Amino acid sequence: MSLTPTFNPPTRILMGPGPSGAHPRVLKAMTAPILGHLDPEFLKIMDECNDMLREVMGTSNRITLATPGTGTSGMEAAVMNLVQPGEKVVIGICGYFGERIAVMAERAGGIVTRVQAPWGSPTDLAGVEAAVKAAGNVKLIGIVHAETSTGAQTPVEPFAKLAKDSGALLLVDCVTSLGGVPVTVDAWGADAVYSGTQKCLSAPPGMAPLTMSPSAWDAVKAREVPCNSWYLDLSLLEAYWDERRAYHHTAPISMVYALHEALALVLDEGIEARWARHEKNGRALQSGLEAMGLVLHADAGYRLPVLTTVRIPDGVNDGEVRGALLNRHGIEVGGGLGDLRGKVWRIGLMGESSNAGNVLLSLRSLGNILREQGFKADVRGAVDAAAAGLA
Ligand code: PLP
Repeated sequence: MSLTPTFNPPTRILMGPGPSGAHPRVLKAMTAPILGHLDPEFLKIMDECNDMLREVMGTSNRITLATPGTGTSGMEAAVMNLVQPGEKVVIGICGYFGERIAVMAERAGGIVTRVQAPWGSPTDLAGVEAAVKAAGNVKLIGIVHAETSTGAQTPVEPFAKLAKDSGALLLVDCVTSLGGVPVTVDAWGADAVYSGTQKCLSAPPGMAPLTMSPSAWDAVKAREVPCNSWYLDLSLLEAYWDERRAYHHTAPISMVYALHEALALVLDEGIEARWARHEKNGRALQSGLEAMGLVLHADAGYRLPVLTTVRIPDGVNDGEVRGALLNRHGIEVGGGLGDLRGKVWRIGLMGESSNAGNVLLSLRSLGNILREQGFKADVRGAVDAAAAGLA
C-alpha cells in the first residue's frame, strides 16, 4: 500500500527579503479550530484585528482592515480603488516595487508619470514635485516607504506635504516597514497605506493590512465608474468588515487568527521597543558587514535597518555563496532583484528573525564562506563590530 506523502519542511533561518520567521504563538494560533466566517466569535477577532491595526499603523482611520492575499493585494486594493480611467497619477520609483505600483495604476486606466531615482537612493522629492506641477490636477502620488529591492528608506512627510499642497492623495507602500520601522500614518498625513503580514509582523504571507484616510475614502465613494477589481472593491469589502457583515468572500479564517496573534505580539512588545530592536540589530549587522570589508549598497542615511543590501564582491559567485549559507547553515538570504540582480545580496532582519543571534551567526557564516571564495573577509572584525553594536 502506498503512503500519501507528507511534507516536513527543513528548519530555516529566514533572513531574506521576506517571508520572515513566524512566531511560534502565531503558528499555534493557526491550528485553532475553524469558525464560520460570520460566527460572532470570529467577527469579534476581526474587529480586534482592525483595532490593533489602527494602533500599529498609527491611525484613527475608520477604514482600516486587512485584505485577503499577500502585500500585493493591499497594493492592488489601494490603487484600483483610488484610480479611475483618465486620472493623473505620479509614482516615485526607486526600485522594483515602485514600478509595480505604476503598472497597476496604468491598468486602472490612470495617466501615469514615473519619476525615477537610482536604485539605492530614496524617492526623488524634487523630481516628484516637478512632475506633479507639470501634470497638474494629479489625483494620486505613490511612493514606497521601504524599498525591499534596494534597502533604501524614503522619508514620507515631505511627500505628504506635497500631496496636501497640490490637492492630491498620497499612497505609501509599507509592506516591509510596518512593525519594524516607524509607520505613523496620521502623523505623516498619508492617505492610503498598505502592508503585508509576512515581513516585520512575522506572520505567514496571506493578508494585507490597509488603511485609508477620510479624504481617500471620500474619493473611493465618489467614483464615477466601479472599481476594476471585484474581489478588492473596498466599497464591497467595507460592508463585510463593518457592522453590516454582508457576505463578500469567505475570510481566510486561519490567517485572521495569525494576524490577530501577530498584532497582539507587536503590542505586547510595544511598538517603539520593537522599532528599537529592529534598529539595533540592523545597524549591528551593517557595521559587521562593513568591518568584514564589504560595501553596503543603499545610500548612507537612508539605509533600512530591516533589509540590508550589500554588494557582491568581484570574483565571488552569488549562487554558490547563497547555496552554502542555505545548505550548511540553514540561512536564507535574498539575491538582487531587477536592476540589482547578481549585484547585491539582500539580508533581512524582520520580525522574529531580527535578533542578535542571527546577526552574529550570519556574519560568521557569510565571512567564512567568502574566505573560501577567495575574498579576504575579516570575520573576527565583523563579529566584534556587530557585537559592539548589540551590547
Ligand atoms: N511592496 C514591497 C515593498 C515589497 O517588498 C513586496 C514584497 O516583497 C510587495 C510590495 C509585494 O508583497 P507580496 O509579495 O507579499 O505580495
